[in-house]
Amino acid sequence: MSGEPVHQPPPLVPGTLYLVATPIGNLEDITLRALRVLRSCDAIAAEDTRHTGRLLQHFGIQKPLLSYHHFNEARRAEEVVERLKQGQIVALVSDAGSPGISDPGERLVVAALARGIRVEPVPGACALVAALTASGLPTEEFHFVGFLPHKSGQRARRLEELSAVPGTLVLYESPFRIERLVGELAVAYPDRQVVLARELTKKFEEWLRGTPAELQAQWVARPRKGEFVVMVGPRTAEGR
Ligand code: SAM
Repeated sequence: MSGEPVHQPPPLVPGTLYLVATPIGNLEDITLRALRVLRSCDAIAAEDTRHTGRLLQHFGIQKPLLSYHHFNEARRAEEVVERLKQGQIVALVSDAGSPGISDPGERLVVAALARGIRVEPVPGACALVAALTASGLPTEEFHFVGFLPHKSGQRARRLEELSAVPGTLVLYESPFRIERLVGELAVAYPDRQVVLARELTKKFEEWLRGTPAELQAQWVARPRKGEFVVMVGPRTAEGR
């Protein structure tokens, strides 16, 4: 007997909603606690049950899956809350990263808290944090924008409003609109430093840095696809 204390993680708490972060590309980024919660819970509410099914299969986990996505959030939130009230342990996951961050989750958290249900985060991968911390842009103060609206006029207005916000701006963008967004940044923030974090944690992770015009020039030389976090450095002395 070595006498070394053995770390025994505390058991999960019945009637708790666990918000479980999952990898944003690299499966090694799942945490030990995430795996334990997914193994020990009664049910997993998932944005896309097929997608999460594949993740669970990879880790040898079998659990009842409930579909919980943007289009059934209101109805499903009530069902999940009922389960929690009966003492079940429910884990909420999204397709990638942290639930509730540009992903379904907030409505369920609000509904659970309103009924006095315990909500516990199981932190892990989040594209916003991964991108910002390695961007080289100021991290002390930042503003997470998430996705811009789709309509051109609304996007331009939103970028204009955001120009007065101090700190680094962090946006998510789909592969279909990323080139357009860089063009919009060239109009709204021509002098600011922009960092594009592409395919984080994946084989073709890449970082592109420069003014919007410099990034556009790189795009012409070699078009890029994939998932992107877009970060815009703080205002320059000229105020743009
Ligand atoms: N909940 C997720 C999180 O915690 O980051 C975000 C989900 S949101 C629907 C998906 C967006 O996140 C993508 O369009 C992209 O902007 C960003 N994203 C997710 N994974 C990424 C990755 N591996 N590399 C770069 N951006 C990523």
